[in-house]
Amino acid sequence: MATQRALEHCVSDAIQEIKRQVRRIRQSHPNVKHRIQDYPAMVVACGYKRSGAVFWGQSASPVNLQYEQPIKKRLEALAPIGEKRKECNNVIGACAEPHAANQVVKTFPGCNMKELQFSSAYRPRTAQRKKYCQNCKETFYEVL
Ligand SMILES: [Zn+2]
Repeated sequence: MATQRALEHCVSDAIQEIKRQVRRIRQSHPNVKHRIQDYPAMVVACGYKRSGAVFWGQSASPVNLQYEQPIKKRLEALAPIGEKRKECNNVIGACAEPHAANQVVKTFPGCNMKELQFSSAYRPRTAQRKKYCQNCKETFYEVL
């Protein structure tokens, strides 16, 4: 079983890794103006209770991503993936949460969505903790 501490540890490693990457990119292109978009908006870790395995995911466009069936089904119950609905400002499937959960489902096919676990969600640029959005709360309603 993944502990809350393991999840938080995983997401904090992810933030460090993202910061290193952004620094590397910026150093190798010193004449390019730094952009906020160099960072993913959000990052979160997701674990599976039965195994202790923990993965992290970052927010990104879902357009070229094939979500695993159980997550796809949940997302599409809200609205088509890649679109917005009035209840939430985020694009369906763009959040870090489904990206992280998708890796759990890929690794443990048939896993029970009730046994997913999430870390807090963070904005890696500022390391600020953020609330889960309405889309994510409804997608992972058993655990968020
Ligand atoms: Zn979200």
